Amino acid sequence: MTKKEALKDLEEHVITSISSKERQHININVAKRVVSELCKTQEVLATSKSTTCKWKENEYDVYDTQCQKSFQITDDGDIKEHKFKYCVYCGGEIKVVR
Ligand SMILES: [Zn+2]
Repeated sequence: MTKKEALKDLEEHVITSISSKERQHININVAKRVVSELCKTQEVLATSKSTTCKWKENEYDVYDTQCQKSFQITDDGDIKEHKFKYCVYCGGEIKVVR
């Protein structure tokens, strides 16, 4: 089953599970959009878990993370000395790049 077919199945399931009485109060297109947005969110969550996050140390001793954040270690150590393994922002495995 392709992703598109799965989505259509899910949409149908959601729509048929809505009783005709409820249908008077909701817009089916809105319901379809909600399902589609939920699927996208699920997808993002599923992919973000397995990815790595590249951390690059800049000239100010601040790490710029791949997920567009910054992290500064305020003592002398670096990421490896602190045994950081996962990005505190996105949860990806930290990969220090130079
Ligand atoms: Zn990150």
